[in-house]
Amino acid sequence: MSKDYQAGTPRRVGQVKEVTSLTNPIVKDIKALTQKKGREESGTFMAEGLKLVIDALELGWTIRTLVYAKAAKGKPLVEKVATKTVASGGLVLEVNEKVISSITRRDNPQMVVGIFEQKWRPLRDIQPSESQTFVALDRVRDPGNLGTIIRTADAAGASGVILIGDCTDPFSLETVRATMGSVFAVPVTRASVDEFLQWKKQSGVNLVATHLAGSVDYRTIAYKGKPVVLMMGNEQSGLPEELASKADRLARIPQQGRADSLNLAVATAVMLFEARRHLLDLELRT
Ligand code: SAM
Repeated sequence: MSKDYQAGTPRRVGQVKEVTSLTNPIVKDIKALTQKKGREESGTFMAEGLKLVIDALELGWTIRTLVYAKAAKGKPLVEKVATKTVASGGLVLEVNEKVISSITRRDNPQMVVGIFEQKWRPLRDIQPSESQTFVALDRVRDPGNLGTIIRTADAAGASGVILIGDCTDPFSLETVRATMGSVFAVPVTRASVDEFLQWKKQSGVNLVATHLAGSVDYRTIAYKGKPVVLMMGNEQSGLPEELASKADRLARIPQQGRADSLNLAVATAVMLFEARRHLLDLELRT
């Protein structure tokens, strides 16, 4: 990291800088956020697009750096977020297209990129109430799946996503892209298997695990009356016994055809919207 700038260092006085060189140390530090190590060291991540940056600021996320392409200069909304960034002690970078392409690793980049502080909701802070639904993911590996699940959880009104064990990073560029902004709306928690099972015991949730060998049709489960956690297995190996055996229900989504399972994000969407249908008391009508 360069001495005069760290993507994750809080700043007291906001500044605006013009940067045109790919070898500029600030640009190098921002590019390091495409790697997990860079994100972990700085505690920050990158989100592309003006709408996402505006949404994030409205939802109270802390912006460390705003990067915009020269072509976006003078646009009222860009000026507004730049003013907010400086006012909150952040850095504003005006860059050329070459720099913004290299930061986002895209040929046709977004004109605006925000660097935000990561936020994780501690497991102990989740005290679920009756009508809440959570998604718990066991060792999710694919960033596209995780992003799609966070986006779907948002759309289905879920209250959070819990990552169990060694999961892909919700703040990677690929995952953030796939969330389409929902990463700013859905609280994400991480936990070990033991921490999760301990929390499950204390919190009184109905743990509905999905499993290809599940004994219960997912449509026949009571999703009301208690907070629900929908637990989903790893893409390759499914749920391990130590998690599946602790579930209150082992649900199966009946399938036809030759596919042996549904894609993880698709299965999660099916479960989330079924739980939502029960919670909203929607009756099937002909
Ligand atoms: N080969 C894996 C296995 O044996 O479980 C397939 C995993 S599947 C791609 C990923 C996850 O999606 C599963 O662990 C389960 O949570 C969920 N899933 C996919 N299809 C399902 C189905 N028909 N019924 C219940 N859960 C399903």
